[in-house]
Amino acid sequence: MADHELILRSARVIDARNGIDEVCDVGISGGRVTAVGPGLTGSAEREEDLTGRAVVPGIVDLHVHLSPWLGGRAGHSMLALAGVTTALDMSGPIEGVVEIARDHGAGLNIACINYVRPGHTVRSTEPGADELRDLLAQSLKAGAIGLKLLGGHFPMAPEAAARTIALAAAEGAYIAFHAGTLATGSHIEGMLEACDLAAGHPLHLAHINSYTRGLVRPPMAEGEEALAALQAHPAIISESYLSPINATSAGCSDGLPESHQTRACLRMGGFAPTEEGLAAAIAAGWGMANVERPAGVVLESGPEAVAYWRARGTRIGVSFRVNPSEPRLRLATARGPAGGFVIDALATDGGGIPRNVIVTMGLALVRLEAWSMTDFVRKACDAPARALGLDAKGHLGVGADADVTVLDLGRGVPVMAMVAGEAIMREGVVLGRGSRLVTTPAGAAAARAAGIPGPVVAPGTMLRRAAMGG
Ligand SMILES: [Zn+2]
Repeated sequence: MADHELILRSARVIDARNGIDEVCDVGISGGRVTAVGPGLTGSAEREEDLTGRAVVPGIVDLHVHLSPWLGGRAGHSMLALAGVTTALDMSGPIEGVVEIARDHGAGLNIACINYVRPGHTVRSTEPGADELRDLLAQSLKAGAIGLKLLGGHFPMAPEAAARTIALAAAEGAYIAFHAGTLATGSHIEGMLEACDLAAGHPLHLAHINSYTRGLVRPPMAEGEEALAALQAHPAIISESYLSPINATSAGCSDGLPESHQTRACLRMGGFAPTEEGLAAAIAAGWGMANVERPAGVVLESGPEAVAYWRARGTRIGVSFRVNPSEPRLRLATARGPAGGFVIDALATDGGGIPRNVIVTMGLALVRLEAWSMTDFVRKACDAPARALGLDAKGHLGVGADADVTVLDLGRGVPVMAMVAGEAIMREGVVLGRGSRLVTTPAGAAAARAAGIPGPVVAPGTMLRRAAMGG
């Protein structure tokens, strides 16, 4: 028997948690890292010569969409092609996410948080403690790791948002918030409100850059306010993304876009916040329909895109170019007084939305010398794995899961992704099948029943962040 099943040879290995940035080898057996160092000796069943490449821990995207209403079936392959090995679906519904993961997986680890949506998973905009507790229990049992407050799209009363956050803290469940309530909106005031509603409990505050679009004050002023608020609320873990486009629901009922976010985007482009306004925006190019093609989801505008949207009963995603560049860059690179990043993770809000740019845009920041490669790994691998409570991911220490992303730093692209030592993507070809659903113990049976068992995280171990100074 060989000493290693696989040795990755002669790559530049970057592992922020273990302080490694050097050309060396990585030994892998049984889906785990067994050795890291220069010139590994011993026999191997297989070797990969990665001379000239960079090896980083598998990329963890803390904000994606892989659900029937947002993202859809193509998201798994799109993530694998982007070099991502683990991702958090940020809305559910958990049942639809599990079905898609079962039928359209590309070998990734997938976690899901289930939305708290009035009229869908809760009855009203003011769900009480018992109703929320039932929803959380059902969600965990179905395989989710917690809940998502979709305030920016489907707002609730501020007290209901605060109740949900406190409940998740008491149960040790994951909780994320797209800021906004009936009292505010999806903008900087909503974000500041969300920091207060968290009341010191752990919370994942989603896509910070989306609150700095200049809806209330100039974008850069809002960016600085957002950074100051995060520094004043150290229990809040956060991510931002670098894509210029957003994505939201194009679903309409009674002549209106159901999502408040969609209405706000229409107003920003000078269109009426109605179904007809959305049709006009897609026809004119301000709205970009998320169109599912065989190779993945693409953005399309014009009359044919309007017809596609109508043919699907308006139930697709739509994107708008609403993210100004200056706060995006400032938020991604901002550091606290002790040198640590204010915003923990680089995410994408991608998945089935065509903006899976962690590697391409993250490495652009490295080329600009805004980040070192260690910074890239901290934000794209280490911090998000820690947030999910996945101690064996986000680094390449001995015993870590052999999830690896291989990068071509010259071209700034991912060339291979591995999960548990098996390639799920190689040179633009998706090889992975199935999924590994990240669950809590309450959801392990549901994951097994769906044929997609994955890592089990203990309640209370999620939403941990490295100290801002670290
Ligand atoms: Zn999202």
